[in-house]
Amino acid sequence: MTQPKGYALITGASSGIGAVYANRLAQQGYDLILVARNQQRLEHLAKRLKSDTQRNVEVVVADLNLAADLARIEQLLQDDSRISLLVNNAGVGATASLLESDADKMDAMILLNVLALTRLAKAAAANFVAQGRGTLINIGSIVALAPTLLNGVYGGSKAYVQAFSESLEHELKDKGVTVQVVLPGVTATEFWDVAGLAVTNLPEAMIMTAEHLVDAALAGLALGEKVTIPSLPDSQDWAAYEAARLALGPNLSHRSPAQRYGVTTA
Ligand code: NAP
Repeated sequence: MTQPKGYALITGASSGIGAVYANRLAQQGYDLILVARNQQRLEHLAKRLKSDTQRNVEVVVADLNLAADLARIEQLLQDDSRISLLVNNAGVGATASLLESDADKMDAMILLNVLALTRLAKAAAANFVAQGRGTLINIGSIVALAPTLLNGVYGGSKAYVQAFSESLEHELKDKGVTVQVVLPGVTATEFWDVAGLAVTNLPEAMIMTAEHLVDAALAGLALGEKVTIPSLPDSQDWAAYEAARLALGPNLSHRSPAQRYGVTTA
């Protein structure tokens, strides 16, 4: 018998990675608040999870690109002390290059992947800090580390998610709040259809199921990882990457430009 753990609010719970989080977190003993635009899908999932797990499952239909809907979810996250976990998962991608992209679609991507994620994280963080507990999971992407792989706005938005999450983790770690950023590689979901390239066009060896992705991400959370890259075979590779980044630290801000630029500062 699992112990009740409070409510987990999952954005983008109507399909793919978010729907699997809903399933796994209900099995772990969380009650759920499922957020997305597609009411029918959310209610179908809620009904199934209620019957499979006997947990409470609430559905909140919201388009996080609409200011009023976003404000409603922010308010919920900030005020509802039952919520102990946020999975900031809703996101969209694109495969077209910037020059071939529609500028309004790029705006919408930034709005969802960056702005909505940030506002929801802030609202949840305020609630969690007030309670002295809580978990925030942000879904990034490996394109944060490989920005030339897909559309530059998508890569940039996910680099933001990674940097933002690491900063938030640093800010909240002494306040009882856990922050994890998950960097999925190619995952078999509708993401690819929305992004403009069916996942079947990609090499099978690169494609993980959403179930395996979420199970690994939750295992990473249980291990205390701040950054989880489910595909990465050797965690020492990430440690080395981080060490190289940190080694730059002492030289990132000096009074004078580096000698190679030939700027006289006398
Ligand atoms: P998905 O199946 O397309 O799921 C995206 C979810 O976001 C859906 O539930 C969708 O639901 C919701 N959503 C989209 N626009 C929304 C909006 N304006 N307001 C509210 N909800 C919205 O794709 P997925 O792969 O599970 O994606 C989940 C996350 O993983 C995204 O952040 C994505 O960037 C990230 N990721 C995916 C991959 C991959 O290869 N699949 C790799 C790296 C990272 P509705 O349509 O019902 O609103």
